[in-house]
Formats: sequence, C-alpha cells, structure tokens
Amino acid sequence: MLGLMQEWPLLCHKIIDHAARQNPAREIVSRSVEGPIVRMTYADLNIRSRKVAERLAREGCVPGDRIATLAWNTGRHLECWYGAMGMGGVYHTLNPRLFPDQIAWIMRHAEDGFLFCDLTFMPIVEKIAPSVPSLRRIVVLTDEAHLPQSPLPGLVAYETWLAEADGDFRWLELDENTAAGMCYTSGTTGEPKGVLYSHRSNVLHAMMACMPDAMGISSRDVVLPVVPMFHANAWGLGQSAPMVGAKLVMPGGKMDGASIYELLDTEKVTFSAAVPTVWLMLLQHLEETGKTLPHLRKVVIGGSACPRVMIRKFEENYGVEVVHAWGMTEMSPLGTLCTLKPECDGLDAEGKLDIRQKQGWAPFGVEMKITDDADVERPWDGATFGRLKVRGPAVARAYYGGAGGEQFDAAGWFDTGDVAHIDAGGYMQITDRAKDVIKSGGEWISTIDLENIAVGHPDVAEAAAIGVPHAKWDERPLLVVVRKAGRNVEKKALLDFMAGKVARWWIPDDVAFVDEIPHTATGKIQKSVLRERFRDYRLPADRA
Ligand code: ADP
Repeated sequence: MLGLMQEWPLLCHKIIDHAARQNPAREIVSRSVEGPIVRMTYADLNIRSRKVAERLAREGCVPGDRIATLAWNTGRHLECWYGAMGMGGVYHTLNPRLFPDQIAWIMRHAEDGFLFCDLTFMPIVEKIAPSVPSLRRIVVLTDEAHLPQSPLPGLVAYETWLAEADGDFRWLELDENTAAGMCYTSGTTGEPKGVLYSHRSNVLHAMMACMPDAMGISSRDVVLPVVPMFHANAWGLGQSAPMVGAKLVMPGGKMDGASIYELLDTEKVTFSAAVPTVWLMLLQHLEETGKTLPHLRKVVIGGSACPRVMIRKFEENYGVEVVHAWGMTEMSPLGTLCTLKPECDGLDAEGKLDIRQKQGWAPFGVEMKITDDADVERPWDGATFGRLKVRGPAVARAYYGGAGGEQFDAAGWFDTGDVAHIDAGGYMQITDRAKDVIKSGGEWISTIDLENIAVGHPDVAEAAAIGVPHAKWDERPLLVVVRKAGRNVEKKALLDFMAGKVARWWIPDDVAFVDEIPHTATGKIQKSVLRERFRDYRLPADRA
C-alpha cells in the first residue's frame, strides 16, 4: 500500500523561494571582487537568480547543460548557481587553484558550454578558453565599468547581461533526481573525477547539515562560509543558510587573517567554516593584535585534520566552539561532525578534547563502516583500523563518465580511500589516506596522529609524516617539519616532546627540517610529492 502524502519534489530553487517568503530582508553581504562590501537580500537573490535563468534560456541553454563558474564566494556566484539549477542546468564549480591545463581538461571532460568568471581569473580564462571547444559564452561577474580589455571574443559584463531580463522566469518543474551541480575531485592521484549532484541530494544534504548536531545553524545566525564554493560546495552552506534564513557573509577573494577578522567583527558573524590553514592565519592575526571574537559562536573545521591545539585555542582563548568535521566532494561533502553526546558529560577537559579531536559521528543520512582488505567489517572499538566506506542519499553512486568504478560496490558502498577507526560511541577518527599510511613491520602507523602531535610543539608551524624505505621494517616514519619563523627546535627536542604521546615504535626515526611543505589545490599536504622528494632518504639506522 502506498502512502497518501503529496509528491513535492526536492528542488534546490524551492530553497530560495522559501527564503524569499520567510526571510526576505535577511542580508547576503559580499566582499566584492571590485573591492567594496555589497549587500543584497534573499528577496533580491530570488529575483536575480530568476534573471540568470531567463538569460541562460535566452542564450540557448537547455536542461542538462553544464554551466561553469570560476569564482570566489559572493552573492553573484550564488545567484549563478540558483539560476543555472532553476532552468534545469548544472552548475559546475571550477577550482582556480588547479593548473590551467587541468582546468581545461576538466571543462572539456564536463563539456561546459557556459562560463561565469570573476575578474581575478581573466588571465586563467584567456589561457584555457581556446582549448575548450564546447565553450560558447563567457560572462564576467562584474559591471560594464570594470569589464577588462581582452582578446577573447564576445565577452560580456554580468550586470549588463542580467539587466536584459525582467525576472519573470518560472522555475522548471523538474524531477528531483535531475542533475543540479557538478564538482571534480582535485585529482591528486590520477585524472580528476566528476561528482554529479542532484536536486534531491543537494536538498537532503542541506537539511542534514542544518541539524543541531551537524552545523546547527538557524535564522538567528550570521554565517561566513570561508570554505570556497569551488571546494566541495562550500560544504553546503549556499543551500543550508537560505534554507534556515541565516544571514550570509561572503568573503570574496580575501581570506587572510585581517580580512576575515574584519568581516567577523563588522558583520557580527556567529558561525563560520573553513580548512585549518585559514584558521591558522586568523589565530595568528588575533595573537599579533590582541583582538577577541565576541560574536563568533561556532566554527566548523575540516578538509584536513584539525590539530588539537587549534581546538584548545579557539575554546580556551576565545570562547568559540570547534566542530571538527570530515567529508569529501563525493559526499556533498558532509560525512561526520564532532559534537559531544551526553555520554561524554562525565569526561574531564582533556577527555573531552580527546573526543573533539576525532572527526566525529555521522548525522542521519550517512551510513558508515570500516572493513579489512577482504571487505570484512571490523569492530567499532576505537582502535581497529579499516577502510572507511559510506552510503547515503547525498553520496555519489558513480563518477561522471564512469571513471573510478572500483570505488563503488554492488551493495552501494563507496570506498572513501580513507583509513579510520570508530569507537563504541560512534565517533570516527581518520588515521590516514589509504595511500599515505606507513606500514612498519606489517603494522600501520597513523601519519595524522604523528602530525597532530608534532604541530602541538610551540616551535612547529607545519608537519608531515611520510614512510621512507627501511631495510628491516620495510618502511619507517620520517617527520618533515616547517619551523615557525624565528624558532629553532631541533630533532631531539621534538622527538622528546612526542615521546609518551604515541606508542614508542610510532616515533619517527628522523626529522627533516624544510622551508615549505607542498599543498594541493584544496589545501592538503601533497604527500606524493614529499615521498618522491625523500625517496632516497637514508634513515639514521640505515646509514652506513
Ligand atoms: P580533494 O581530493 O579534491 O582535495 P576533498 O576536499 O573532497 O577533495 O577531500 C576529501 C578528503 O580530505 C577526505 O577523503 C580525507 O582524506 C580528507 N579530509 C577531509 N576532512 C578531514 C578531516 N577532518 N581530517 C582528516 N582528513 C580529512
């Protein structure tokens, strides 16, 4: 027997219809690429998104067309997303931090027909446009006065283009499984792979993100997504903030400590989300200036492991709750978030910090398990490592074009490529990327644990642990360290600092001090490059 409830397809543009109805005057404040702070409301967002849809349709875009964006977080970028989705198109965020050749490869693979780009990225666009045959039109996200001279034919200023529409567009009545958005993984290893979100997955993900033990945002919040829209959809905040009617503050291209602080302060931001490196810059700025964070209530930190010392500083020095989170592009991206369940109430401050440092537990809508190499499920005992696999309505079931099929199994589980353990309370902790784990004498050593402890040393700015070949143990850990400016911690002091914090046989065999550690386009340490660089490194015990 079927239920007798209404068919109400879960469509993304219903989110901004709702926002315009329920919270029409709530602001979206952006640091524009041209410089000044600009303000609009959810009512404006709705009208301007309809104009985008109308203009795209007039340009000949049809449902299913891929509409690329190469842009910072701004209100304009958001209206391009909603306009594209509302006419059945697929917004496709491009990561400007990739090499131009990679961006062009991704655009050709996705067959992007249309591109919205920020002024900042004109040099990249001029390089790649000639090698993307599918590209029919480029709209620069600016007004006529700022439109640059360019050798590219047919460039048009967004505001002029948009002014040709009346905003009377009727959203398409789509099937909720229609593709809505697209984002490629960065392709640190192999070619980038396309993840194709649907209206349904985006809406369900946004609802999941709003839950109290997830992001937990409300109409009373002022939300600053520092995490870029081109990095895994700004973790869904472009959908969850309008869904609950929260004020949005968009940082544009400026993510240094002083610029972020300025927005936190002047707009009275209560909630923000970013990768650890951004927070590192902010904390440094606060320490240098003695400023405080009276309005900020909560920060979500993810994308790579959040060091314990960062959680402690935010909470103890500034009274800000840290929610450590894990996810990936393939998961829309939220996977787990770390809030304390009542079972943790009895723990002392350090015990709570032990929990908060984990990547957290899954909200409804994310199923997870850990398995051994034979796909046998491993216990949730907080110690046994396994490959982390996930399922859910906002998890990819295939990559665009069929790449990477081996990561999906017949029962619908997606192999994340991460290694983790899960404790009896449901808290998951990532110990490594499967390809980064150090295998010493057949046992696994977690590089993330080593790095976390090393960056707890006051002289260490950044640390990366990699496995290097060893005659007896196959591999042993080498710690690669960037010191803080003007500090000079030595190997012995650092290893003494680490002693007692992990098993003795986990302690690195050597420390290499470097000026810089290489990062990927999404801010993660590029272990493959480090491994290559230290391929012939001789550990002390192996040296003649
Ligand atoms: P990309 O591969 O494009 O950088 P993602 O941002 O989707 O894409 O990266 C997802 C990966 O980032 C995860 O599989 C995991 O390895 C890592 N990651 C994300 N959040 C965390 C976290 N809190 N702690 C440790 N690793 C994390």
